[in-house]
Amino acid sequence: MTESKQTFMNLDLVLKLKDKFPTPYHIYDEKGIIENVRKLNKAFSWNPGFREYFAVKATPNPHIMKLLAKEGCGMDCSSLTELMLSEKCGIKGEHIMFSSNNTPAEDFVKAAELGAIINFDDITHIDFFEKNVGYIPETVSCRYNPGGYFEISNAIMDSPGDAKYGMTQPQICQAFRILKEKGAKLFGIHAFLASNTMTDDYYPVLAGQLFRLAVSLKEETGCKIGFINLSGGIGIPYRPDGREADILAIGESVRRVYEQILVPAGMGDVAIYTELGRFVLGPYGNLITKAIHQKHIHKNYIGVDACACNLMRPAMYGAYHHITVLGKENLPCDHMYDIAGGLCENNDKFAVDRWLPAITVGDYLAIHDTGAHGHAMGYNYNGKLRSAELLLRENGDVIQIRRAETPEDYFATLDFDKL
Ligand SMILES: *Cc1c(COP(=O)(O)O)cnc(C)c1O
Repeated sequence: MTESKQTFMNLDLVLKLKDKFPTPYHIYDEKGIIENVRKLNKAFSWNPGFREYFAVKATPNPHIMKLLAKEGCGMDCSSLTELMLSEKCGIKGEHIMFSSNNTPAEDFVKAAELGAIINFDDITHIDFFEKNVGYIPETVSCRYNPGGYFEISNAIMDSPGDAKYGMTQPQICQAFRILKEKGAKLFGIHAFLASNTMTDDYYPVLAGQLFRLAVSLKEETGCKIGFINLSGGIGIPYRPDGREADILAIGESVRRVYEQILVPAGMGDVAIYTELGRFVLGPYGNLITKAIHQKHIHKNYIGVDACACNLMRPAMYGAYHHITVLGKENLPCDHMYDIAGGLCENNDKFAVDRWLPAITVGDYLAIHDTGAHGHAMGYNYNGKLRSAELLLRENGDVIQIRRAETPEDYFATLDFDKL
């Protein structure tokens, strides 16, 4: 068996970059990102108010954020620093969705200062917000949690009943009444009920639930529903046998549900929002790392210069990330390896029992699908430093969009003079 999943990276490019940009690094494919986000916008172009609010937490890099903003995206923020990042990119007002939970007062204050749409995670946050900010905005949103299990054709996708997010239906109804009384005029509904979904039915089924909820909220509270936020959750094929989401078909299915439920209720002016992170960026990032050791004990190990601090998903969730040995794409995958980082943690493995071509020290490995929740989940355990982020421009140039951390960064929060 040979290589079965393609990457935008190749050995020539890595060799061209190697003096300027040593491994490890994350690199993003501008062309892929732009084509993908245009397809997303096209899928929902039937809805005049449609907007993707990119989930900043997936890839909190201002170059990426500006690239997406240029394509019409807003930003979905959930913390003070994500709000500040958006501000630095010149993104504010209704182009920011503030979908946070367990929110500190200062985060609400900043979100209000920027004019962001506040997506209340809990009914008690209304008072908390008003106390700390001083007013209730005219446009507001509430996050919904139906409880129980989220099912599609009797298959359980996730269990909202165990999730800390959102309000129950009676609470969201009550929250709308309270917000209306406090001066809110335009209302939104948000829910995120399943993650990394692999079926094109997730959004349409979710939309059905939220559209019905919207109709009943309008009837019960008289509130004007301005938008429905389907949030994130569309998955990507991490595995070579995985299937890509058909975003055009998904958009079309949501349109059918919209016309079945909202239009007859006189709600044909409701905007659809999304907050996709993984779908928008995931496939368009690679972690490039170099084999620095081989070790043959009870298993065969390849030691690379990246570790779980650069990409946490395999260690944290046992997540599969495909690996291409660059320059060996057409060789048979006839060697079984564990691909390991250098943390003093045995879960620091990018792959376990993976069939790959024979690897020698000095080979470059591309770890696929690290564009979302990759560099962003980086950390400093074992004193490891976060890597650089690069952008492969549409014209073939490569620019650095975040430098690698240095030991000075790691020590910056310590004061050795006070020892
Ligand atoms: C994480 C998150 C997203 C993005 O999720 P993906 O799985 O990357 O699509 C969107 N909205 C909220 C509120 C989130 O927490």
